[in-house]
Amino acid sequence: MIGMARYLAVDLGATKTRIALCSQDRILDKIVFPTPKTGDNTTIAESIVVKAREKWSSILDSVEAVGVASIGPLDLRRGVIVKPPNLLFNEVKLLEPLERILGKRVYVVNDAVAAAWGEKHFGSGRSFENLLYVTLSTGVGGGVIVNNHLLLGKQGNAHEIGHIVVDYNSELKCGCGGYGHWEAYAGGRNLPRVARWLLERNPGLASGSLLAKRILIGEQVTSIDIFTLYRSNDPLALEVVKQFIKATGAGLASAINSYDPEVVIIGGGVFINNIDILLEPIKREAERNIVTTPPLIQPTTLGDDVGLYGALTLAIEPPEELLKLQSSIATR
Ligand SMILES: [Zn+2]
Repeated sequence: MIGMARYLAVDLGATKTRIALCSQDRILDKIVFPTPKTGDNTTIAESIVVKAREKWSSILDSVEAVGVASIGPLDLRRGVIVKPPNLLFNEVKLLEPLERILGKRVYVVNDAVAAAWGEKHFGSGRSFENLLYVTLSTGVGGGVIVNNHLLLGKQGNAHEIGHIVVDYNSELKCGCGGYGHWEAYAGGRNLPRVARWLLERNPGLASGSLLAKRILIGEQVTSIDIFTLYRSNDPLALEVVKQFIKATGAGLASAINSYDPEVVIIGGGVFINNIDILLEPIKREAERNIVTTPPLIQPTTLGDDVGLYGALTLAIEPPEELLKLQSSIATR
């Protein structure tokens, strides 16, 4: 019956997994639980089913389809996360076990790619054919829609804009092993490393810096600490955020020059919690290096639920590019 259709949306993160029961136009109910850290390659898929059954036992059998927005890197054809840097598993199978246990069509893409698709259908991307979604979170990622087509690439990794080289002379190493990548400067998990690196290069930054003091006594600091200290004018935190903004302006300009979007939508925890500090300087920095007509650059309006809305959109309206890549599993 029209209007009664139900969908399951899953946003699988390195620390938290969110699952939502949805109608065609909104999230009806959701649960959040810690992503399993141990087990075998189907433990995460099984935990998703167990949690969803606990919460929505009777409704689950009637869902139309399931969308999954997942951390990467993915092998999109198999719907598998391959060697996730933030989980201990060598491989996490999603598509095959979820389809087998639930008996439903399941669609899996990278979380930032799903977010782009979600923005196009539920967010501020609705009136645009060319859209770039950027997440500034633990890492830096993106999803791109060009002329209404969601870009996927040969294995679904057409979104790795976080590894754009923003400084080819840089000695700052990225989590992927490369140097001078956007994510090395602006990934939330990398900010403490950026602080240490800046401090080594310029020990003068330690003067009057609580951040430097905490680093030098070997204390663990987080990106949240760094932005908090930025707000109290800590000299080292100021420099870390300055580098964040410069790298993000450069990375964003490169992505804009590559994809020619009408609108750039930015989300992710690091950005969402610091829009007042980041948005305007990032726009200024990016616009200096854009050769095309500058796009609108704006924060997501979907907040923490952007991944779930992306997953919901996948389930309702799977992009044709994805159907081609994942059809072999469905027809098996
Ligand atoms: Zn990298």
